[in-house]
Amino acid sequence: MTPLFGTGDRPIGVAVLGLGNVGTEVVRILRDHADDLKARVGAPVVLRGVAVRRTGIDRGIPEELLTTDAEALVARKDVDIVVEVVGGIEPARTHILAALNAGKSVVTANKALLAEYTGELAEAAERNRADLYFEAAVAGAIPIVRPLVQSLAGDQVNRVMGIVNGTTNFILSAMDETGADYGETLAEAGRLGYAEADPTADVEGYDAAAKAAILASLAFHTRVTAADVHREGISKITSEDLAAARDLDCTVKLLALCERVKDGGKERVSARVYPALIPRKHPLASVSGAFNAVFVEAQNAGRLMFYGQGAGGAPTASAVMGDLVMAARNKFYGGRAPGESTYAKLPIAPMGETATRYLVNLRVADKKGVLATVASEFAERGVSISAVRQTDVADGAHLIVVTHRAPDQALADTVAALAELDVVTEVSSVLRLEGTEE
Ligand code: NAP
Repeated sequence: MTPLFGTGDRPIGVAVLGLGNVGTEVVRILRDHADDLKARVGAPVVLRGVAVRRTGIDRGIPEELLTTDAEALVARKDVDIVVEVVGGIEPARTHILAALNAGKSVVTANKALLAEYTGELAEAAERNRADLYFEAAVAGAIPIVRPLVQSLAGDQVNRVMGIVNGTTNFILSAMDETGADYGETLAEAGRLGYAEADPTADVEGYDAAAKAAILASLAFHTRVTAADVHREGISKITSEDLAAARDLDCTVKLLALCERVKDGGKERVSARVYPALIPRKHPLASVSGAFNAVFVEAQNAGRLMFYGQGAGGAPTASAVMGDLVMAARNKFYGGRAPGESTYAKLPIAPMGETATRYLVNLRVADKKGVLATVASEFAERGVSISAVRQTDVADGAHLIVVTHRAPDQALADTVAALAELDVVTEVSSVLRLEGTEE
């Protein structure tokens, strides 16, 4: 191939916005592996500058590379590629748009921004024939964006089910192993650096929902935003829930689920995040601690599993660098990144119409006919029961009811009706069940 820049001597200029966990590692790799990068790209990849917010801190890089003026850095003529690792919506969005509108390539790890603004950013990239890469935005080091966009481009993806948040996976794995409750385990996760001071984005599922939106968009060639994703967090999960899961040879995971659902002749997209039981024999059950994994089911490829470190400076920087090399090669040889694909434009299935399985934990009175009364509430709403387990306790009985797949609304209505029954002392918990064959 003939290099676009002719001699191979003209460097590819890179601006890095943000020098935190990820930015620091990107800059380190650019510095330590300059020769390899040059060989892989075909031209030297040169860091032109790094934008930060605060000044007066020893960052371990030459002072002349640092600036607080990200706008000016992005606009520099000798900057070909902008790596955005600042995070959040603004000013990241403005800087990325400025770069794309100037025909520069952008590499970003910013899932929060992409889950809201992929459309706007992708359109700017298309208009300006610029590259927009974002492998690091989902599941850190794990290659999942490129497999969905490129490797599976000739297949039909039917389902993506992932553990895409390390904080919640650490907490749920620890609760499963130790029997400790949620509050205690969250505090421990904070002490060990696995949970942030404000853990809301992780434990309430916002982070996973942003990633689910990105995955669903890629898998189903449809624009899906975070607002389209049904979201429930793990803060209400109790040690009793984990114990009930263990009894059924299951564990509890916060899952990001993206499904192509077929309803009659029509196809829709269901994207949802919630804690769910999965059988211990399911490949995702063995993903423990802060690790991530994404399980993909495609029509021809069958089942694929992607596993690895979903966060951390160096692992995330690895994904950023992969994109950076692609973008640099494109600059050098004149190629283009794959653009956004939204041709399918599938409608979003409302959660109430999405079929799931439930596990309902009830405390009931020890009276004749209780089981029949409970079962009739399920039957009345068309929810078929797959298994019931009854354990006698001091003041009544403990019932665990596992259902077959039924519309989520029918299950929710059944649970509400059960709570009203005189014979039901308490609906102790309701959890969804995923990863089973039916
Ligand atoms: P971080 O440690 O908080 O670093 C953010 C950096 O951005 C800091 O250097 C900060 O400057 C700089 N910054 C903030 N506002 C700025 C502004 N207005 N102008 C210029 N610079 C500004 O963040 P991170 O953990 O590296 O994450 C970066 C991105 O990667 C986020 O989008 C995140 O979601 C994504 N990501 C992170 C991980 C991970 O494990 N950390 C994993 C996957 C994806 P100061 O240093 O001066 O404060």
